[in-house]
Amino acid sequence: MEKTLLIIKPDGVKQNIIGEIVSRFEKKGLRIVAIKKVWLTKAQAKSFYIVHKEKPFYEPLSDFMSEGPVVPVVIEGAGVIAKVREIMGATNPANAAAGTIRKDFAESVERNIVHGSDSPESAAYEIPFFFSAAEIL
Ligand code: UDP
Ligand code: MG
Repeated sequence: MEKTLLIIKPDGVKQNIIGEIVSRFEKKGLRIVAIKKVWLTKAQAKSFYIVHKEKPFYEPLSDFMSEGPVVPVVIEGAGVIAKVREIMGATNPANAAAGTIRKDFAESVERNIVHGSDSPESAAYEIPFFFSAAEIL
């Protein structure tokens, strides 16, 4: 079954909406197969977002992702990668559809509440970044 990595970013954890976010995926019939809370170092955040190392936002993004605890979540379901991205909404909340997580909670394109894997290849890198096989149930 297809799996994806979602992260509730430091701004989402601060807003106290972990349960609200997780429940949106459960209500769509997707299953939570792993979840934890961790505080990344800046080096870990840079390594998670290594694909963006040439982008102008790489440094500020790594600072943001290590400013407080995050909640990585593995979600499972048919077509889950695309479904999770749809429920999240566009990267920039100004462009996100009504009823999406980013439209409802994000303050800017930088601080946008959630991360979601964008392909099977990214999921294959991102899930083991946070979870061992024994933690995915
Ligand atoms: N980001 C940013 N400025 C931008 C584009 C992206 O700060 O102009 C941040 C934002 O937090 C985003 C993350 O970098 O979620 C990764 O960017 P990506 O284009 O992969 O967007 P996503 O896949 O998260 O929608
Ligand atoms: Mg991305």
